[in-house]
Amino acid sequence: MNKIIDGKKIAAKLEIALKQKTKKLKNKPKIVSVLVGDDPASLLYTEIKEKKASQLGILFEAIKFKEEATFEEVVSKIQELNKDKTVTGVMVQLPLPRKFSGDREQYELLAEISPKKDVDGLTGKGKFQPAVVKAILSILDQEKIELKGKVVTIIGASELIGLPLSKELKKKKALVTVCDINTKNLREETLKSDIIIAAAGEAGLLYNKMVKEGVVVIDVGISKVDDKIVGDVDFESVEPLASKITPVPGGVGPVTVISLMENVVELAK
Ligand code: NAD
Repeated sequence: MNKIIDGKKIAAKLEIALKQKTKKLKNKPKIVSVLVGDDPASLLYTEIKEKKASQLGILFEAIKFKEEATFEEVVSKIQELNKDKTVTGVMVQLPLPRKFSGDREQYELLAEISPKKDVDGLTGKGKFQPAVVKAILSILDQEKIELKGKVVTIIGASELIGLPLSKELKKKKALVTVCDINTKNLREETLKSDIIIAAAGEAGLLYNKMVKEGVVVIDVGISKVDDKIVGDVDFESVEPLASKITPVPGGVGPVTVISLMENVVELAK
């Protein structure tokens, strides 16, 4: 197996299996994604999801609100979608604009999604984990990375990535530490790790002096630096030491999109 994990290849493999399932459905499932504001990255990811959905025979609609939209307006749309029988899954594209993205505001907004339609695992009450968490687990599984007894550090402790991922990895008997912005000595944790999952959203956070030889690195972060999309990992310096590593772009991202599609097909069944 190659050292650089090819997310597109893993996604393509999952897509073949998913196509078999979509063929068997009587009606096309439909995802509605609610966007607020015009964050360029969010618009781009929405386009990517739209394209993949159409290739798979899944309906995808993006409902776009201007940044000035009120909390109530967005909530009322989500409630309407919850009731709409033609809609299989409802999601909100993150990140939300600043006025909605405080921990409490975001939590309250996402909590409006009916758990029955929570296709992206945003409420914590539905059937699914967030698609990105599912994607990370799929990558570890497809690459046959042993988790039992392994020292794993997750950088990033959000409710939507780091925390649910930590629960899942503990179920697989990994020895997990979750670090966040308040962690005093991140390097001490990462240096002893067999597997590092970086999901902080800070470009170049993890570099060669922070990892041991043979480490497996999954880079979830997405940042824009000089018009380029980069992850949390300084790929150039870490790759020579790693036994396996995901690139950005082309790593976790494509698998996340397929995971979302797998979820909507599951809901439609
Ligand atoms: P978030 O802002 O909610 O949480 C970030 C977490 O990282 C927090 O716990 C914070 O304390 C921690 N953190 C930030 N800087 C740190 C540092 N210097 N050291 C240690 N910890 C630090 O973000 P999120 O929603 O969890 O997303 C994280 C990243 O994952 C973002 O870049 C986001 O764009 C990306 N993301 C990628 C995908 C994908 O498919 N690849 C999907 C969703 C999100």
